[in-house]
Amino acid sequence: MGTLYIVSTPIGNLEDITIRAIKTLSSVDAILCEDTRHTGILLHHLTIKKILLIRFDDHTEHQKTPEIIQMLDDGKNIALVSDAGTPLISDPGFLLVREAIKRGIKVVSIPGPTAAIAALSVSGLPTNRFMFMSYPPEKQSHRIKLFRSLPKDVTIIFYCAPHKLTQTLEDMKEVLGDIDITIARELTKVHEELSRSPISHALTKYREPKGEFVVLLHLD
Ligand code: SAM
Repeated sequence: MGTLYIVSTPIGNLEDITIRAIKTLSSVDAILCEDTRHTGILLHHLTIKKILLIRFDDHTEHQKTPEIIQMLDDGKNIALVSDAGTPLISDPGFLLVREAIKRGIKVVSIPGPTAAIAALSVSGLPTNRFMFMSYPPEKQSHRIKLFRSLPKDVTIIFYCAPHKLTQTLEDMKEVLGDIDITIARELTKVHEELSRSPISHALTKYREPKGEFVVLLHLD
């Protein structure tokens, strides 16, 4: 039986790949990835050649999982990567890992970057208890309900797409008041930025948000 490797890749800075990740990606029989072109660029940068790339994204995960399990049953070693960071963290892979564990297939983590933890570690907010909330719900009423239910004394971490940032912050301000929030933008990249301010300031600063954002808050 083969092994399934869950391999973290950089969240922006290509130098953030680990030696174990390179060794694993070089030695497996196939790499599952969200976007073959995107992962192809990473492999080219790492000078890894002749590897079978299989598309495995949110749309194909369900349908592809039995086929991948069969390959693992047949003794193939397979790595799962996502476009950035750690697979399964707001990215595909959960169905596959759950199924692999059910079948007694060995699942190995090759850990590395993840935006939530990178942001938390530099946020200056308490790190003893934190809650990762992924993306806030699409629907405004669901978002507001979620913001109303946020716990106290825990650092809360959200991912946020740039085109949703303004609306998300406005809803947050409506529910929680003009509290201080921390925004980590473009972590590990050239325009990396960390700001801590009341929500109203963040709304002014990011009037036309560009890039990738993590939003953190802590309710006392
Ligand atoms: N699997 C990834 C991880 O381990 O962080 C997350 C994938 S999720 C589809 C993408 C979201 O992660 C972005 O919308 C953004 O909220 C956050 N993100 C990813 N890279 C980032 C970066 N360099 N700086 C800030 N946020 C980032």
